[in-house]
Amino acid sequence: MKRVSIAISFALAIVQVLRVVTACVADIDPEVMNRIKRALPASGFEAPSDPHRVLIFTKTNGFRHDSIPVGVVALTRLGSTTGIYEIVHSEDDVMFEPENLNTFDAVIMLNTTGEVFRPKSLPDDPQERDAALQRENRLKKSLVDYVKSGKGLVGVHSATDTYKNWKAYNEMMGGVCVGHPWHTEVPIRLLDASHPLNAVFGGRGFMIKDEIYQFRDGTARPQDRRMLLSLNPDWEPISKGTREDGFYPLSWIAQYGNGRTFYCALGHRDETYSNPAVLRHYLAGIQYALGDLAVDDAPIVIDKQGGKQ
Ligand SMILES: [Zn+2]
Repeated sequence: MKRVSIAISFALAIVQVLRVVTACVADIDPEVMNRIKRALPASGFEAPSDPHRVLIFTKTNGFRHDSIPVGVVALTRLGSTTGIYEIVHSEDDVMFEPENLNTFDAVIMLNTTGEVFRPKSLPDDPQERDAALQRENRLKKSLVDYVKSGKGLVGVHSATDTYKNWKAYNEMMGGVCVGHPWHTEVPIRLLDASHPLNAVFGGRGFMIKDEIYQFRDGTARPQDRRMLLSLNPDWEPISKGTREDGFYPLSWIAQYGNGRTFYCALGHRDETYSNPAVLRHYLAGIQYALGDLAVDDAPIVIDKQGGKQ
């Protein structure tokens, strides 16, 4: 009975998905849409002949970013233009029931916030409350098992402002956002410019305007994961940050069990999703998570210039 009801809610969720995607495209300013189209790469790294199937999840149980519709369209087109993946977009957590989740090769948490596997507010009735919490635990376990089994997990921007006190999620995502001391044009440093995921930047750091996160002490540590981008440490306003180690990473990859995770903190503003280099970096990270790319994901010691030591 449970299986049937999950199947029915899955089917209803797919209908909802189609509505959401149609609404997203209709809501986007044609000029923004044109900028996204111009920014999209024609191809990515080599992929299997059949496109991967990827879930984009954008449920918010906290702050909601205005850039979600633009982000969904950009990441959907990134997959379809290159032929590397096709997207199912949803805000329904029924997608995380194991039998549904296992139909995807990777999940992208795009600007999710808060405790996304429970209702916005928990029911007052004790039995209903217990049922909601049990369901939440089942979905949490489902996501951890999914990644451990060899699948991919991608986080964009506020994916780290999601489940800030669920340890397994924080370890998979790699960091916990604890504020954004900067929302201006910032200089980004490439950590190991020769890494394939950083090749899109042509070997040089770059400037970008976005809301820039700092991560909780003890998370997002270079000794735990392969860091790809950080704020340039020579930039004077970096002193507004309060990290104990003074390190402000913005993009990274890591293995988790048999699976792979990619996180990029850029993605607050609409314009980020029509930045050609950032889109290519997202694509490379998504392909790493999908298992298309065998790249070095071991942690490295980072020297002052951002290279390997
Ligand atoms: Zn933001």
